[in-house]
Amino acid sequence: MRSRTWIPAIAAVALAACSVEQASRSQPRFQVPPPVEGRWYKGNTHAHTTESDGDSPPEVVARWYKDHGYDFLVLSDHNVFTDPATLAHLVDSTFLLIPGEELTSSFESRPVHVNGLNLPGVVEERTDSTLVGTLQANVDAVREVNGVPHIDHPNFQWAFGAAELAQVERYKLLEIFNGHPLVHNEGGGGTPGMEEVWDALLTGGKRIYGIAVDDAHHFQGEFGRNRANPGRGWLGVKATSLDAAAIMDALEAGSFYASTGVVLADVVVAPSRLEVHIAPDRDFRYTTVFIGPKGRELARSTDNPAVYELVEDVGYVRARVTDSMGWRAWTQPVFVAR
Ligand SMILES: [Zn+2]
Ligand SMILES: [Zn+2]
Repeated sequence: MRSRTWIPAIAAVALAACSVEQASRSQPRFQVPPPVEGRWYKGNTHAHTTESDGDSPPEVVARWYKDHGYDFLVLSDHNVFTDPATLAHLVDSTFLLIPGEELTSSFESRPVHVNGLNLPGVVEERTDSTLVGTLQANVDAVREVNGVPHIDHPNFQWAFGAAELAQVERYKLLEIFNGHPLVHNEGGGGTPGMEEVWDALLTGGKRIYGIAVDDAHHFQGEFGRNRANPGRGWLGVKATSLDAAAIMDALEAGSFYASTGVVLADVVVAPSRLEVHIAPDRDFRYTTVFIGPKGRELARSTDNPAVYELVEDVGYVRARVTDSMGWRAWTQPVFVAR
């Protein structure tokens, strides 16, 4: 009797194993990025000085960021290379200055501004016979010197949107939040805001990472909503070390989040889970929304960590954390393997 019951039991186990394997084959999985051994660094990639239209010299601007807990900063003056070598006395193991510039061009009356990060020197802005061509030419100018481009404030003077950005190549970083008072991050009057633009690009198959920056100009006098003050938009970058190459690699790999104030302790991507670990601030409360193609809300959580379980092929998932004062953090999209 023993042997007669024993044999079907083995068969049942084998059958169960087989069906588990078949199920796991059809189970959607995230493309899990290679883990980064390192720590989180806070930085801003867009700030101006008296070398262009800022109100304070490079020394004062760099010092503001160093004194306010930032690990790195890019001085990005308009068509001027503000050389960090002149500020070497501010650079140490806790604070890095990455050389940069805001390539400031236009097409007809539309501003076309592209930041170049980690540049070897000044890069001349370019123009072209179309708006997309002008964007592309400035992105290419940054790439040609092995810099990292990011496209700035599309809604500034309502210059361009997803239709144009979808045609530009060789860039990965797009400002989804800019702290300047005239950049219309939220859109309006029928023109999409930056998150909607971002989702349109992602839905169309472009792998774009969203960044938050200050675009700071004003370090003197009153700080207020109509002034371009520092401290409004920043990045938390997980990198192997605090040097320009490591920070650039992390940015281009999407190993960072963008923020207007919410600090994340970690973002963990597993084959079927996305976990957002929030660093709690005082008695603040948090809501995390998981967003997929076309900006569709996939799930919502008030837990910490906030966890999204991948059970169907949704294309991509990104998260936006909002705290009880309205400050936000945006994680980068993770993509379902196809
Ligand atoms: Zn600009
Ligand atoms: Zn600027």
